[in-house]
Amino acid sequence: MLELNQPVTALPKIGPALQKNLNRLGLETIRDLLLHTPFRYDDFRLIKKIHDLTIGEVATIKGAITSITNKRSPRKRLNITECFITDGQNEIKAIWFNQPFLTKTLTEGEEIFLAGTIEGNLLAKQLTNPAYEKAKDLTTHTGRLVPIYPLTSGLTQKQFRFFITLAWAAIKFIKEWLPDDILLQEQLISLPQALAYIHFPTNQEQIAQAKKRLKYEELLNWHLQLLVSKHELTQTLSPPIIFNQELTKNLVSSLPFSLTNSQRLAAWEILQDMNKNTPMNRLLEGDVGSGKTVVAALALANCAINNWQGVILAPTEILARQHLETFSKSLGNKFPLALYTRSQTLIFDGVIQPINKTSLKKIIASGEINIIIGTHALLQPDITFKKLGLAIIDEQHRFGVAQRQTLRQKTDGTYLPHLLSMTATPIPRSLALTIYGDLELSILNELPPNRQKPITKLVPEAKRAEAYNFIKKQLAEGRQAYIICPIIEESDTLGVKAVTTEYEQLKKGIFANYTIGLLHGQQKSEEKETIMADFSAGKINILLATTVVEVGVNVPNANLMMIESAGRFGLSQLHQLRGRVMRSSYQPYCLLFTQKLSPDGAKRLDYFTQTWDGFRLAEADLGLRGAGDLLGANQSGFSLSLHYTALTELDLIKQTKELAKQIFSQEKLLKSYQDHHPLKLIHLE
Ligand code: ADP
Ligand code: MG
Repeated sequence: MLELNQPVTALPKIGPALQKNLNRLGLETIRDLLLHTPFRYDDFRLIKKIHDLTIGEVATIKGAITSITNKRSPRKRLNITECFITDGQNEIKAIWFNQPFLTKTLTEGEEIFLAGTIEGNLLAKQLTNPAYEKAKDLTTHTGRLVPIYPLTSGLTQKQFRFFITLAWAAIKFIKEWLPDDILLQEQLISLPQALAYIHFPTNQEQIAQAKKRLKYEELLNWHLQLLVSKHELTQTLSPPIIFNQELTKNLVSSLPFSLTNSQRLAAWEILQDMNKNTPMNRLLEGDVGSGKTVVAALALANCAINNWQGVILAPTEILARQHLETFSKSLGNKFPLALYTRSQTLIFDGVIQPINKTSLKKIIASGEINIIIGTHALLQPDITFKKLGLAIIDEQHRFGVAQRQTLRQKTDGTYLPHLLSMTATPIPRSLALTIYGDLELSILNELPPNRQKPITKLVPEAKRAEAYNFIKKQLAEGRQAYIICPIIEESDTLGVKAVTTEYEQLKKGIFANYTIGLLHGQQKSEEKETIMADFSAGKINILLATTVVEVGVNVPNANLMMIESAGRFGLSQLHQLRGRVMRSSYQPYCLLFTQKLSPDGAKRLDYFTQTWDGFRLAEADLGLRGAGDLLGANQSGFSLSLHYTALTELDLIKQTKELAKQIFSQEKLLKSYQDHHPLKLIHLE
């Protein structure tokens, strides 16, 4: 008997090769198959007589094959399969390109269905590359609303539809967990019904009902998991870290600037949280350049002076190294610091110097150093702490449940360190609070006072030389510049600038008299470090880079950025990039170059030149490109895996949150959810 947890290979015809392809889509079990839902449908419901077909319509025809042959098109060297079918009265021609095997699958005299768009003219109608299937009572690929699934290479729609029909034997194990009165109240169909409708709909209304139920499923899962995890945190202990006002005041007054009000408030909220004996779980959200690092430094210093250890995890080695430099200036005369990444181990005790990896691990384990900077390499099992009291994660929205478990393993198991996440992805407050119900929120809603608004220009290709001259003028004044290209190497995508090619050309050409650095993701980390350090120290005038500089990089002297093929980036991403040159009192410039633009693309870039508020840009991104792009995994580590719901559906997100609270507060309902929890549509990692 087929069961939900069996691997896909439990189905006949799925061997190791197909299994591998399915796994690549994240589909491992029969349950996963049933939950892999179509993203659109071909409407092949209309079954017509050949005589009644009209040009341009989409239809299904049933007929017998009168002939089927392969031909070669001499000009294009294509293989063409030509087939005639008759419905007893009339005949129609169908052709397929490059599918010569069809003459083996389909034979003369056989009854088949063909579906597709009717082409040709009044004299001769024709189908090109139609869907086909042998005639039977229940059709899968023709004669119905035919589902189209998101697939990768190595899998065909036909194969996948067939797998679904086989996996369907296990549908009886998917049970509804919501009680009838809630289904009624929310006007929802049951889960198994929803899956039946999504894979085998007979009309659009069924698809709509199915989607609604699946949206509820994923949103309820999402909210309930957050409620459960928030509740668990209130049952967990953390070491109270005493808010040391004197130290904090001293540090603040030794800074070369005064804190903004929102920095003060955020620091205060964080230090209050850390003072409690339950774990802080706070998100510090602040636009690029709003000064999150110094807030993190104050938290780490308070941790250290209480003789607890604190770590800050950066997404890249470049950033970790930068944090070491920053902290050595602001905290260095009070606390020793350590840097631990996969390829670098350094220590600061007056000066930054290398230390052997094993020795550093020992020092961390013995509790000799309380402030440890690093990448996620610090979460590896070989790192142990003496007394870990605080974990700060930079440029990510939240600790996943698994990451939190890893942190617990870094303690003696009786408590959890306080957690602070910091992110520059501007999610509007109400949305953030709704989708991150388990987090407290601090927002830096102002930039330091000395900042100037960026001058952003979309520059026509004809003015490129002028733009280069402008860069030279800024360099002559002692500034530095970034030039950003979307890709590393020249590719087939016509006209998209590659950073390596540009580097070679600019170095020999227009900027021959300047020092140019090259930075991209395929370089070794030592190479990247050296280049960043040189750029930081002013030894490099122009840094040619891909989006590796997108997150967190801080070189205040750089005030100009040129972005090639700017149309390839989302607004939020452009905003992150531009943020690199808005980190000092120098007038920032951002010059956008781009090849062909769609009207939408032009509108987007135009909006970008006029707007410097990250929140408004994010909202525009939502409107113009959809939630997936704004919050896609590729942007600043944010990944909210909603398949069915768009983040613009804020009302539904809020409505289901209320429902989730209702379920959470009723033991019986919560148990029903936890027992069945059948779909696990949402994974909180
Ligand atoms: P982000 O929030 O993007 O991480 P950073 O913490 O890197 O920003 O700060 C950006 C720059 O602003 C740094 O050079 C930092 O020293 C400076 N900075 C931070 N706070 C202030 C402030 N209150 N006044 C002036 N400059 C500040
Ligand atoms: Mg930062």
